[in-house]
Amino acid sequence: MSLTKRILLAMVLGVATGVLIHLIAPSEEHFLRAWLARGLFDGIGQVFIRSLTLLVVPLVFVSLVCGSASLGGHSRMGAMAGKTVALYLATTAVAITLALGIGQLVKPGEGIDMPGEVENFSPTEKPSIKDTLVNVFPSNPVEAMAEGSMLQIIVFALLLGLAISQSEHKASRYMQEFFNHLNTVVLKLVMILMHLAPYGVFCLLAKLFADLGWQAIADLALYFCTLLFVLLLHGLGTYTLLLKFLGRLSPRIFLRKMWPVMVFGFSTASSNATIPVTLRTVEKDLGVDNRVASFSVPLGATINMDGTAIMQGVATAFIAQVYAIDISLMGYLMVVLTATLASIGTAGVPGVGMITLAMVLQQAGLPVEGVALIIGVDRLLDMVRTAVNVTGDAMVSTVVANSEGMLDRKQFERPLESDNT
Ligand code: ASP
Repeated sequence: MSLTKRILLAMVLGVATGVLIHLIAPSEEHFLRAWLARGLFDGIGQVFIRSLTLLVVPLVFVSLVCGSASLGGHSRMGAMAGKTVALYLATTAVAITLALGIGQLVKPGEGIDMPGEVENFSPTEKPSIKDTLVNVFPSNPVEAMAEGSMLQIIVFALLLGLAISQSEHKASRYMQEFFNHLNTVVLKLVMILMHLAPYGVFCLLAKLFADLGWQAIADLALYFCTLLFVLLLHGLGTYTLLLKFLGRLSPRIFLRKMWPVMVFGFSTASSNATIPVTLRTVEKDLGVDNRVASFSVPLGATINMDGTAIMQGVATAFIAQVYAIDISLMGYLMVVLTATLASIGTAGVPGVGMITLAMVLQQAGLPVEGVALIIGVDRLLDMVRTAVNVTGDAMVSTVVANSEGMLDRKQFERPLESDNT
């Protein structure tokens, strides 16, 4: 069986096992929940996520040094970066607009009781714009890597790659070769891990579905379904249109090849942890040149969160409806702006979108405590929106590469050789 099929099968079996455990063992103390789900499955799942995360920093760094060293002072570098950032921002703005519009039409918050006693949800302090921009530049590359600060690693790798390409000394050629070889080795590691993915995916999903609070989801069914609908609409509609009209590329092939990446995003609920798989798929299966992919994929995992923006749009409409607060048109425009910025500030790890939602609510003059209404159902939605987030990164990377003549269209159209196992 091909790797993609095995990963998908593991996903289905994981969900089924989890739901079964939840039905057989409703109490948390039951040994099936305590030992099997929270013990064994959780343990293996954690090891899987840790091993994926382990590869992120070396992979992004090495791959981006290779990319920028071979791009060198290439005049297209600026255009490529500009297009990437512009498309990331534009797709996020479309995502949030769709979410707000459909949230207004469906009105998922009507008829929901306002929370009486809610736990105090304290939003974290947001840094100023100046600090945020200054923080993109690392003062210590080792610290940046130790803390996994993706933007700082990107800046350092770009500079190092540029210096390698500009240096006249013959050692620079060796450096470039060294990084190319290292890149091959790290990608091999990614491949080894992907072979173990079915087990990791199974355990993560079985644990999660065994623990999931179905009642909470049933209570907020309309919010839940509206959000899922907009996520699907954006993932299948907006991306399909962009691929077709901006790139003249087949959305069917794109989505087919992206399946494993979506499953990884879904099971880990982390764009960051999925970077190794996204990068590999974008380069090897979709045919995007390393010089584009190594820049746009890690950048996207850090700043491009269409799924998260959609959650924030629907959640804003929902909370405004529950509290019966009317947001003016100007208010909605502000929400589009802040949610786009919030999605840049959302780290690609589980649950952060909920924290940055507080910033959007504050900006719109809505009660931040409203977050308490939806936090109970967020875990499953986080998984779906992460799948959309990573698909958006790969879509932009493919479209930009295509427009810069850096997409191997033959490779894009080539069927997966038994899914490149
Ligand atoms: N989990 C999301 C991601 O990693 C971020 C979020 O919305 O919480 O992309």
